[in-house]
Order: sequence, then C-alpha cells, then structure tokens
Amino acid sequence: MRVFDQNSNIFNLLSEAVSEGILVVNKDQIIVATNSRTNEMFGYETDELKGSSLDILLPPSHHEFHKKHVAQYHKNRNKRRMAHGRELFGLRKNKEQFPLEIGLNPFSLYGNSYVMALIIDITDVKEREREIHELNANLEKKIKKRTVELRDTVAELKKEIKLRVSAEKKIKNALQKERELNELKTKFLSLVSHEFKTPLSGIMTSATLVGKYKKEEQQEKRDKHLKTIIGEVKRLNTILTDFLSIERLREGKEVYRFTDFSLSKVINEVVYNSNMLLKIGQRITYPQNIEDVIIRQDEKIVNLVLTNLLHNAIKYSPEDTLIDLKIELGANQIIFSVIDQGIGIPEKDQRHIFERYFRAENAVLNSGTGIGLHIIKGHLENLNGSISFVSHENKGSTFTVTLPLADANGS
Ligand code: ADP
Repeated sequence: MRVFDQNSNIFNLLSEAVSEGILVVNKDQIIVATNSRTNEMFGYETDELKGSSLDILLPPSHHEFHKKHVAQYHKNRNKRRMAHGRELFGLRKNKEQFPLEIGLNPFSLYGNSYVMALIIDITDVKEREREIHELNANLEKKIKKRTVELRDTVAELKKEIKLRVSAEKKIKNALQKERELNELKTKFLSLVSHEFKTPLSGIMTSATLVGKYKKEEQQEKRDKHLKTIIGEVKRLNTILTDFLSIERLREGKEVYRFTDFSLSKVINEVVYNSNMLLKIGQRITYPQNIEDVIIRQDEKIVNLVLTNLLHNAIKYSPEDTLIDLKIELGANQIIFSVIDQGIGIPEKDQRHIFERYFRAENAVLNSGTGIGLHIIKGHLENLNGSISFVSHENKGSTFTVTLPLADANGS
C-alpha cells in the first residue's frame, strides 16, 4: 500500500481527472487506493476504505460469486468488463445497494499484482431503463387494448354491413314482388276486362231482345235468349272462379277431398260438356273400356284438369280435326293424355306456358285468360302429380297428366 502512498500525488492527479470511480485492490482483494468519486459513490470519507477488504463494498449476495470470479480472473488476467451480462450491485456505507458497471484493469507495480477497477454508478441509467420499460409495457398494453377494440369495431361493422345487405336484399325483393304483382294485376285487369266484354255485350243484347218479345207465343224466342244469358253468366262465373282459385292456391288454402268414383262417369261428363264446344268437323275420341274402373282421387280436380285440357284442345285446333283422350291405368297412378292437331305452342313460348296469365303469341286471337294451365299445374303439384306437354307449331300438342292413385285408406 505504501506504493500508492508514495505515488499518491501521481495517483491522485490522474484518478481525480476521470469521472469514473477508481478503486485499486491488491491480490488479496484489499483496497489499496480509491479516488474521491469512488468514496462519494459508496459514501465513505477520503482514505476510509483503504486497508478494507473489497467485500465491504459488495452486497452479501455477491460475496460467493465474487470469490469465484476473482479466482477465475487471476487465471486469465486481462483487461475487461466485469460480469458481462449480469447485473452488478455495490453496497454503500449506509447499506443501500445500487447498480454499477465495472471495468477491470490488472497491472503490476514493483513486483506486486494489482487490479484497478473503473466503476460507474448506473442508478440513473437503470432508472431510465426501468421507465422506458414501463412506458413500453404501457404502450404495448394500450396497443393490445386498441387492437381488441379495433377488432370488435370491425366485427361490429361487418355485422352491420351484413344486416344492411340483407335488409337491402329484402327491400329489393319486396319491391320486385310488388312490381311483379302490379304487372300481373294490370295484365289480369286488361285480360279480364277484355274477356268480360264479349259475354256482357251478349247478355245486354239478349236481355234487350227478351224485353221485346211480349207476346205469349214468343216464349221460344225468350227461352233462346235466356239460355244465352245463362251461358254467358256461366262463362263470367268460370273466369272469376279461376281467379279466386289462383288466390286460394297461392295461399295454400285449397282443401282436397278424396273419394272412390267411377272413372267412366267423369270421362262421360267431361266429354259430354266438351262436345258442346266442338267446332265443325271436330271429334273427341276416348277409351270405351273403362266401364268398371273405380279410382280414388279428388273427383272435382280430375274433372277440372280434363275439362281444361279438352277445352284448350278444341279452342286451339281448327275445324275437322281429331282430339284424342288417352288413359293409362297403372297400379299406383293414372296417366291422361290429350292429343290435338291444332296450332301448337311456339317454341320460344313453351317455357312460360304454365305461368299465370301467360298466353302464347299465336293464341291471342282466341279468347282466354292464361289462368287454366297455371291452376291445374298448382292442383296437380299439391296432389303429387305432374303435367307436361310436347308441342309443335301448326302440328299439334300433347298434354300429359300423371296423378297418383290413393289406396282405399288413403286420403
Ligand atoms: P287460356 O287458354 O285461357 O289462354 P290456359 O292457361 O289454358 O289459358 O293456356 C295458356 C296458354 O297455353 C294459352 O293461351 C295458349 O297459348 C297455350 N295453350 C294451351 N293449350 C294449348 C293447346 N292445346 N294448343 C296450343 N296452345 C295451347
């Protein structure tokens, strides 16, 4: 130690010129010199530390580590930072611990080994590091929170967009339906007013004429006009019934009644009524071998379907043509075909033929409302049956209806 006393002026001069703390220990780890920065850092008076073991400046928890470190250090003496990668603490006189950084510089003087430690108090650096760390942690927390909030907002927005799109779709659909309905109503009104005109003017004429036949012997003429009136009223009634039928079908309110009935009875009825509408030279052929056949179905619907098909065949065929009604009776179903040699249905109109109020281009000169086929298709579907057709313009059409037959217990 004397060495440093002897050279203390030089040591003081040099060591006071640097801002780091300087501490010199001999090979026994006894402090032999300190500068005033070191004394101030550790809270000691000038020269108070001289002669003390270095342990006095280390927290107890560091003693063990330090011993090992010294042994290792003497084996491999060189200049370096101490405990790189590990946090070091110093112990002040008042027992307070503080973080520090130490650079070690071994040297020999007059045959003795020493180590000079350059010490920096990094309390402020650590404090700043801690603050930055805290700030970063807070920032991270905030970012996480904001990210979650953003994700929620995006999810909400997506939901909102979905709802709006679906609402928009609904409104568009409703508008489209409304538009279609209006178009249909207009179409229906123009068809009906057109269809009503002829029977109404017939009724008017006949009613006017009936009033003119006042004499008793003119009863026959009166009867003829009354018959016309009744016929025309029936026609108007059919159109209105058809229209109401569409509404009932649309609302699913149609009720079906299954009974066992004679097939020939219905066929005779339908053909009898159709025969009254035949044009000159037209003829209906139908099977004669169905006398004993009893089927279980809704008789009114079978009647309605066949009446419609036969009436169309008559209406859309010229004079002197044949209309053929064919029947194929299976175990579980019955197939009716109505074949005519009429005007046929233009190919471009065929896919619309079962639509409400649709009439093919070549049919408009004939009276009609475009309701009949739509109605019978609705009924047939409700009864698990079907209707289809094959048609060639100016050659003729074949309409085919398939209906399942209910068994005796069926309803
Ligand atoms: P309507 O006969 O009162 O017009 P329908 O619904 O019975 O109504 O028929 C729809 C359309 O189908 C008809 O307007 C006509 O264009 C076409 N059609 C139906 N049956 C025949 C047929 N046998 N031959 C040619 N066209 C037909």
